[in-house]
Amino acid sequence: MKKEFIFLGPPACGKGTQTSMLAKHFNLPHVDTGSLLRAEIASGSENGKIAKSFIDKGQLVPVWLVGEIIKNRLSMDDCKNGYILDGFPRSEEQADMLTKINKELDDGIDVDFQAIYFDIDESVLISRIVNRRSCKDCGEIYNLKYKPTKVEGVCDLCGGALIQRKDDNEETAHARFDTYFKETAPLIEYYQKQGVLKDLKADGSIKEVWQRLLEIVK
Ligand code: AMP
Repeated sequence: MKKEFIFLGPPACGKGTQTSMLAKHFNLPHVDTGSLLRAEIASGSENGKIAKSFIDKGQLVPVWLVGEIIKNRLSMDDCKNGYILDGFPRSEEQADMLTKINKELDDGIDVDFQAIYFDIDESVLISRIVNRRSCKDCGEIYNLKYKPTKVEGVCDLCGGALIQRKDDNEETAHARFDTYFKETAPLIEYYQKQGVLKDLKADGSIKEVWQRLLEIVK
């Protein structure tokens, strides 16, 4: 059976860390729209320039652009057994688009579709965002306060240098929260109504959340 997972939750709720672990656990591709968009920006393409202007303001990139990227990615061969989709959909329009893409790609296939909501108290999240760093080479995520590297500024896994995302500053973080509540949070009810939403208590350590996640995705 093809396994399709999507994840909802506010910025810095721990989705990136847990979904990367889940992808390894199920041997499925981790499809993360934020990273795909940052790669598009790094390529210097026209679409990358457009995406950057929205990301820098903490707003959603236009649906035509992100939809094109997602459709191409989900059509790739490594997604034929399923995918771990992180950061998409982020609005009702995108959720409808995903349904349409899945209909096209999954014709006649048995699918297990699950939407997992990272349920967490938002008050801690701004501090998580401004302290977040990632490895410029392997993408491993760290946090200066909650998950520091052994040697300052150096990735524990590959020795790469740590970088801070440009949109991980306090001003953009507030805008990203506004965007989340306005555009993305209504999807909780959207998927609840379809009977596919699972609630994950996302506070606590990475290990604790991971154990809870494994229980609910079984
Ligand atoms: P993330 O890495 O998931 O925190 O995403 C970083 C930024 O990329 C977001 O604040 C948006 O500007 C943009 N972005 C990521 N995913 C989407 C999406 N599904 N739709 C529109 N914009 C997105």
